[in-house]
Amino acid sequence: GVETTDNGADPGIALDGVSVTFGGVTALQDVSIAVGDGEFFTLVGPSGCGKTTTLRTIAGFETPAAGHVRIGGQQVDGMPPEERDVGIVFQNYALFPHMSVRENVAYGLRFRDPPGDVSSDERVDELLDLVDMAGMGERDPEALSGGQAQRIALARAIAPGPELLLLDEPLSALDARLRERLRVTVRDIQQDLGITTVYVTHDQAEALAISDRVAVVNGGRIEQVDTPERLYREPASRFVAEFVGDNNLFDGEVSATAPLRARVDGKEIRLPKTANVSTGDSVTLCVRPETIRLGGAERSESSESETTLTATVENSEFLGDAYRLHCTWNDRSILVKTEGRQPPDDTVELKFDTADVHLLQDS
Ligand code: ATP
Repeated sequence: GVETTDNGADPGIALDGVSVTFGGVTALQDVSIAVGDGEFFTLVGPSGCGKTTTLRTIAGFETPAAGHVRIGGQQVDGMPPEERDVGIVFQNYALFPHMSVRENVAYGLRFRDPPGDVSSDERVDELLDLVDMAGMGERDPEALSGGQAQRIALARAIAPGPELLLLDEPLSALDARLRERLRVTVRDIQQDLGITTVYVTHDQAEALAISDRVAVVNGGRIEQVDTPERLYREPASRFVAEFVGDNNLFDGEVSATAPLRARVDGKEIRLPKTANVSTGDSVTLCVRPETIRLGGAERSESSESETTLTATVENSEFLGDAYRLHCTWNDRSILVKTEGRQPPDDTVELKFDTADVHLLQDS
């Protein structure tokens, strides 16, 4: 792909057809993304898919075998990392133990004067305040919790006022509760500064929670780039449909067009009118667990606007605010999110609206 910066817009970052190889291994293949100025952009995907390599390529630590990188509209191919205007936080960015917290933050200013008209000391105070660590400057890094240490690492990265912020799993070493709190902090600080940010995580829920847009990476390629809402509601591929949130996927074949429906295991399931398919097409139907309702004991036939599947409950998980039922229908597993527990071995009627069926055509 070569559609990026030449249309007038001057994105914060552009990767144009970037490929990166290690020996014989292709880590990134023809990756094109354009991150807007001030955008919070997240790379999410399973382990080894190429997220860190993408980030390291933007930072200048990897040299693409093909393609180009632009930062602020300027081509930066071959430019060494320290000349790129980039702040970076890694998963376990160890602070220097022999320096105080304050000296660690000030270290971020070793190549550059602080932005604006402030002294280094004033800048460090500003930053400690920003990451809610005011008054802790004289502490030893060993005396910090994991969450505090990551906030100091963030302060150090943004100290010189970089144009870009690159965050590689900055929260993944922290426990779940702290991770959820700190991701909001990271987002707030990013918004305050308006700094173009690329964030790497393997946690799809985290990606959805904090990003303006998300790129789903799979096997060194970009599967989809979209807002969190669109990724969730309109996954473009089977991979995205399965990776982002819980989902139920049914493979079927379009059996009729008026009205539109597909046959799945001998069962006719109505498809949304908007689906652009023809009889005989292979399709995959995606139905989110929270869009499935439990019907009463009375058998009801599927109507135009809804489908009913008679399924068996295998077990229920208590999630706190809901139950996740694992059901089977025709030897297929179906996940259902409900308010109530359901005893195992119960026969239930699973109902979902035709409008809640999302179609994939890449099967
Ligand atoms: P994780 O979430 O596990 O950190 P990731 O999505 O960040 O994974 P990368 O670290 O970018 O994935 O790795 C992508 C691929 O490139 C993997 O197959 C990895 O083994 C390979 N790779 C990465 N760095 C190197 C290297 N320096 N030498 C050889 N292979 C590498």
